[in-house]
Amino acid sequence: MPLDARIFVAGHRGLVGSAIVRALERQGYRNVLTRTRAELDLRSEPDVDDFFSSERPEYVYLAAAKVGGIWANNTYPVDFIQENLEIELNVIRAAHEHGVKKLLFLGSSCIYPRLAPQPIKEEYLLTGPLEPTNQPYAIAKIAGIELVNSYRRQYGAHFISAMPTNLYGPGDNFDLETSHVLAALLRKTHEAKVNGSPTVQVWGTGNPRREFLHVDDLAEASLFLLDHYDDAVPINVGIGEDISIRELAELIKNVVGYQGDLVFDPRKPDGMPRKLLDVNRIRALGWSARIPLRTGIEQTYEWFVQNMA
Ligand code: GDP
Repeated sequence: MPLDARIFVAGHRGLVGSAIVRALERQGYRNVLTRTRAELDLRSEPDVDDFFSSERPEYVYLAAAKVGGIWANNTYPVDFIQENLEIELNVIRAAHEHGVKKLLFLGSSCIYPRLAPQPIKEEYLLTGPLEPTNQPYAIAKIAGIELVNSYRRQYGAHFISAMPTNLYGPGDNFDLETSHVLAALLRKTHEAKVNGSPTVQVWGTGNPRREFLHVDDLAEASLFLLDHYDDAVPINVGIGEDISIRELAELIKNVVGYQGDLVFDPRKPDGMPRKLLDVNRIRALGWSARIPLRTGIEQTYEWFVQNMA
């Protein structure tokens, strides 16, 4: 992408979109287009069309999505399938109709079968049943991949999809009902320390394993892929290592400096037993994640304390 290219980052207020904007600005891109939800409702087809015809973006990062942790996904299934389908349909079609040169659609590792062999290779997509707690979201994201690939096949569009693993970082959602595990545990552990509570509640058994990617690494990967990838296979983006929720909770205790105990609540769902991506494809292209988990958690904790606590 030339530095004066007109680049639309859809979802720039979110965890991923805001990191992509920061990465573009760091690299010297001067024409980054953004719209808040109040300015442009991506669920509205005519509004999206008007935006593309007046602003004429040449490149698109589709980071706008209805996202949430295990509880939110399980509780609001309509929102997760409906809003995501609407956003994908409107933005991807408008990108094609208004001549966008390249589009990157961001999905999620939850598109893969619940019991996929680990680490999960890209080709395991659609080889088995999904995790029920986030199936509506996963199916919307799978539909997005298929839409991207249909535009590739039918029109030769240079649209691609990337599937990041579980994400965290500055700008994450720290609401305890809707957040993902890392942000939730950072907040709960911090509050337990400040309030002198003897315990922190951790949902589930602590046994599920997750891989955590810092969102600044994902943003770097997104810029890299736009320049170096043009294939129908939805490419995995991860760090290539996972840890159990119990180990994550211990690590967070250590970073926060909390001395109390962890209490597991097995009445809460565990979700997928394991979700580790095979990242050989992106590594072979020359990209790998740089931010070690502990460093990333320390930096996110600092951000939380300064901005949210
Ligand atoms: P998932 O990767 O789609 O399952 O999403 P989450 O990040 O929400 O949850 C990952 C795992 O962490 C699940 O096994 C949760 O039960 C577990 N977990 C433990 N404590 C918490 C918490 O306080 N919030 C959330 N969201 N998950 C938690």
